[in-house]
Amino acid sequence: MHTVTLIPGDGIGPSIMDAAVRVIEASGARIRWERQIAGMVAMETLGTPLPEETLASIRQNRVAFKGPLTTPVAGGYRSVNVQLRQMFKLYANVRPAITFEGTKTPFKNVDMVIIRENTEGLYSGIEHEIRADDEILAAETIALITRAGSERIIRFAFEYARKHGRKRVTVVHKANILKTTTGMFLEIARNMANDFPDIEFNDRIIDACAMRMVMSPQEFDVIVTTNLFGDILSDLAAGLVGGLGLIAGANIGHEYAIFEAVHGSAPDIAGKNIANPTAVILAGVMMLDHLHEHEAARRIEQAVREVIRECRCVTPDLKPDSGFGTQDMADEIIRKMQAQ
Ligand code: NAD
Repeated sequence: MHTVTLIPGDGIGPSIMDAAVRVIEASGARIRWERQIAGMVAMETLGTPLPEETLASIRQNRVAFKGPLTTPVAGGYRSVNVQLRQMFKLYANVRPAITFEGTKTPFKNVDMVIIRENTEGLYSGIEHEIRADDEILAAETIALITRAGSERIIRFAFEYARKHGRKRVTVVHKANILKTTTGMFLEIARNMANDFPDIEFNDRIIDACAMRMVMSPQEFDVIVTTNLFGDILSDLAAGLVGGLGLIAGANIGHEYAIFEAVHGSAPDIAGKNIANPTAVILAGVMMLDHLHEHEAARRIEQAVREVIRECRCVTPDLKPDSGFGTQDMADEIIRKMQAQ
């Protein structure tokens, strides 16, 4: 039996996490949930977005399954997602974007994994303002990129490619302009490629990469990149395969791991029972693989694929007039598992 910290999250979080928990429990996986709160809901009830009990639970269990957390724009508290990634040294953010049969997208056969450095770069939290009276005259955000952090994530990407039978690693950078930071990242990747002669290696400049991803996404296999570029490219990749409702992410460190959807709390559709639960369910699949519950993981994955392929009992983002909601889609996934 594994004990996992469960954080329902904000906005659509409680509804999609409820759907995902029901699917995981129906899969036969041996999980005991420890419910905790974070984000806006914790701020409103406990006066802090990241309560000590939640941190203690993650420290104890080492694995968390998390719904999306709202971050106030501009002012307000610092992103709890970013804080968790930094506190637990979850340096690798793994985001697969794979075409589902049944989805209506301009592209077929997209099969890429974006591996985003998750603790450094422009998200390091080193920011300051220069003020005169009450006016901000200048503002600075420092992109801290370390050799150790870069080596760690690039090695992770090559090892991931080898372990998962993938053929190519592409490093994405802006080394023509940001010569010191992403220049170092590129140089480290080029050197490390020599240790992995079985894996093809190439590099792309971020802007050209964005264009190539929408013109010929099939040329990408494993992408490794710095924090901000990875954040943007993974939403772009989500768009290639049918939207944010389908893309899962794993935040991995040496000691801890937190699994979540790539998308946020979607306030525009919260409370309407129309959010697609697939992304968090697939984050649950990644978590089950992490916990070596491979059989349960494959059962869920197969059932999700069947439901999306049939494109009948799915949420409106996949079929606008479907008439089915979040919980209906989860029920259908459970029915498919029971029929396997
Ligand atoms: P978002 O990902 O919440 O939503 C973007 C668009 O995608 C919206 O139109 C939304 O309706 C749609 N969408 C998202 N998830 C969906 C789903 N499961 N099914 C169907 N449609 C879905 O991005 P946002 O609106 O920029 O951010 C909202 C809040 O979430 C912000 O506070 C942001 O900081 C936070 N956020 C949190 C995380 C996280 O917890 N890891 C990630 C991204 C954003």
